[in-house]
Amino acid sequence: MRALRLESWKSEPKLVEVPDPTPGPGEAVIRVGGAGACHSDLHLMHDFDAGAVPWQPPFTLGHENAGWVHALGEGVAGFEIGQAVAVYGPWGCGRCRRCLAGVETYCENPAEAPAPGGGGGLGADGGMADYMLVPAAERHLLPLPEGLEPAYAAPLTDAGLTPFHAVARSWGKLGPRATCVVIGTGGLGHLAVQIAKQTTGARVIAVDVRDEALEVARSMGADHLVTADAAAADRIRELTGGRGADVVIDCVGNDSTLALGAQTVTVLGDLTIVGIGGGTLPVGFFSVPYEASVQTTYWGSSPELADVLDLAARGLLTPKVTTYSLDDAVQAYHDLAEGKVEGRAVIVP
Ligand code: NAD
Ligand code: ZN
Ligand code: ZN
Repeated sequence: MRALRLESWKSEPKLVEVPDPTPGPGEAVIRVGGAGACHSDLHLMHDFDAGAVPWQPPFTLGHENAGWVHALGEGVAGFEIGQAVAVYGPWGCGRCRRCLAGVETYCENPAEAPAPGGGGGLGADGGMADYMLVPAAERHLLPLPEGLEPAYAAPLTDAGLTPFHAVARSWGKLGPRATCVVIGTGGLGHLAVQIAKQTTGARVIAVDVRDEALEVARSMGADHLVTADAAAADRIRELTGGRGADVVIDCVGNDSTLALGAQTVTVLGDLTIVGIGGGTLPVGFFSVPYEASVQTTYWGSSPELADVLDLAARGLLTPKVTTYSLDDAVQAYHDLAEGKVEGRAVIVP
């Protein structure tokens, strides 16, 4: 089969022929219906050195995946050949307290996981290929609700799940008079806007450097659009009657967006860093408002993925998807790097 492989850090991935995977006990092979191109993959290709994460190339890219069950290993119950499924991407040990709660992102025994601290497309082989091997299939495959096509569902497993987790952990602060700011309305951020609109009573302010991304945010229900320039913090203060935002979800994470988050989050608010833009934020007595919480989040849990799929099945979560063939996957990443993708680029083998 064909597979888009990252052979080493700081290199371009290559489309090569590899043997078809076969499932061992407890495993499944899916025929890939869609594999999303995440900006994190650009960090793998351009920014990370050996040791930045606990796993390493070579592996097949693609960590947000959906498809159809192609083959089932011994002992896998509850799935049928041909069934449409989404892949829960972070793969833990399956036995620790967090894994038992479905929070495999923060597995306590990463050394016993298929790809310590990662998953398919992040250390283990991912979905930018004709087929993908999924270990512990009963934990890592979720049936797609009726009507959800794999190519459309694939982004839900990361670009949907990650902001869902970030917004859901702040639900208590997002009542009807609250404001949620989303910085960076690309693949993750356009869905963050919609998740905040559909699951909370808050008004949503979208912030981006690109007008096209702000227009996508508008189509996802953003109440206000703010260009990320020197006047952005003042504009957000103005839009919130001087209060600032109850919750800021930063889907960029560079020095300037973290500073914008700290300038605009309100007392008792949440500033949640989702983007891996390499920035840092000085946190001290006078640098963030009183009792404002600053946290990073990584991906989400499998019960949360079930919630995301349910929202999508009910038409409340509608990813904007641009599809590319596997032959054009490298081009998809170039377009993503140049800010030319609206919503999410999805590779359809
Ligand atoms: P993307 O390229 O699709 O979107 C990024 C958006 O940010 C673009 O619309 C871009 O125009 C905008 N942007 C860039 N600089 C900006 C600035 N200074 N101010 C405002 N907007 C700006 O990327 P994506 O796939 O949505 O990923 C976003 C970030 O989240 C990446 O760093 C990625 O690695 C990270 N990520 C984190 C997790 C996690 O679990 N924490 C999961 C997936 C992705
Ligand atoms: Zn990702
Ligand atoms: Zn675990």
